[in-house]
Amino acid sequence: MTTAILSALSEEQGGLMHALQQPEQLRHAGRVFWRGRLHGQPVVLALSGIGKVAAATTAAVLAERFGPARMVFTGVAGGVGEGVQVGDVVVAQDYLQHDFDASPIVPRWEVPGYGGARMDCDAALTALLSGAVRDWLTRAQGTFDANSQPRLHQGLMASGDRFVSAAQESRALRAALLAAGHDVLAVEMEGAAVAQVCRDYGLPFAAVRTISDRADDSAHVDFPWFVEHVAGRHAQGIVNSLVQRL
Ligand code: SAH
Repeated sequence: MTTAILSALSEEQGGLMHALQQPEQLRHAGRVFWRGRLHGQPVVLALSGIGKVAAATTAAVLAERFGPARMVFTGVAGGVGEGVQVGDVVVAQDYLQHDFDASPIVPRWEVPGYGGARMDCDAALTALLSGAVRDWLTRAQGTFDANSQPRLHQGLMASGDRFVSAAQESRALRAALLAAGHDVLAVEMEGAAVAQVCRDYGLPFAAVRTISDRADDSAHVDFPWFVEHVAGRHAQGIVNSLVQRL
C-alpha cells in the first residue's frame, strides 16, 4: 500500500528526502521518483513540476507506474482567505481551477465532463492529514520563525497557471469566486490538476499547503524566503505524522 507524496519544489521535498529509508531512484518521463520507506511505510516521492500540466503528467505517471494506494500533496501556497496568514497551514477539502473558463458554454470554472467546478479530496485521508497537521503544529509550537501561532484552516483551494503576486489581483480573484459561492482559502499552481487525475484513476487524494505569502504585492519577497527556510521542515513534520497514522 504505497503512498505517493508529491511536492512542487525541491525545497518543499527536502525534508522528506532526508528522512527516506532505503531510497531507490527511478526515472521516467523526464522525472525522478524516489521509492523508499518513511517510518516503515512504503512511499514514492516525486516533484510535480510547476503548474497544472506538469503536475498532471507526474500524477498520471505515478498512478500508472507505481500503483499507489493514495496520493498526498505537500507544499506552499498564497493565502487569500480572510485570516489565512503566512505560516498557517491549509488542508484542502476540495479544489478548483481558478483560470478555467469555458463560459458561456458552461458556467465559469466548471470543467466539462466532471459535473461542476470543484474536485473533492478524499474525506478519510483528509481527516488523517488534518490530524497530522494538528499534531505537528502542537509539537513544533514556538519553533516557527514566520508566525508564532500558526493555525490550521480547512476548505477550498484554487490552482491556476499563475503566481498570484498583486493584492488587487488576489482580492478580485477571491471576490469573483466568492460571488459564485466558492470561498477560496489559498491559491497555488498544481493541486487541482492532481485532484482531477486522482478522480480519473479513483485514487484517494489529500493536500496540505503551508502559507508562504499572501498572494499580494510582497509575495515575490515572502515566497522565496519561506520556501528556503520553512517549507521543507513543515512538509517533513506533517508527512512523518501522517504516515504513522496510515
Ligand atoms: N521559483 C520556482 C517557481 C515557483 S512558482 C522555480 O523557479 O521553479 C510558485 C510555487 O509555489 C508553485 O508551485 C505554487 O504552487 C506555489 N505558490 C506559492 N505562493 C503562490 C502564489 N501566491 N500564487 C501561486 N502559486 C503559489
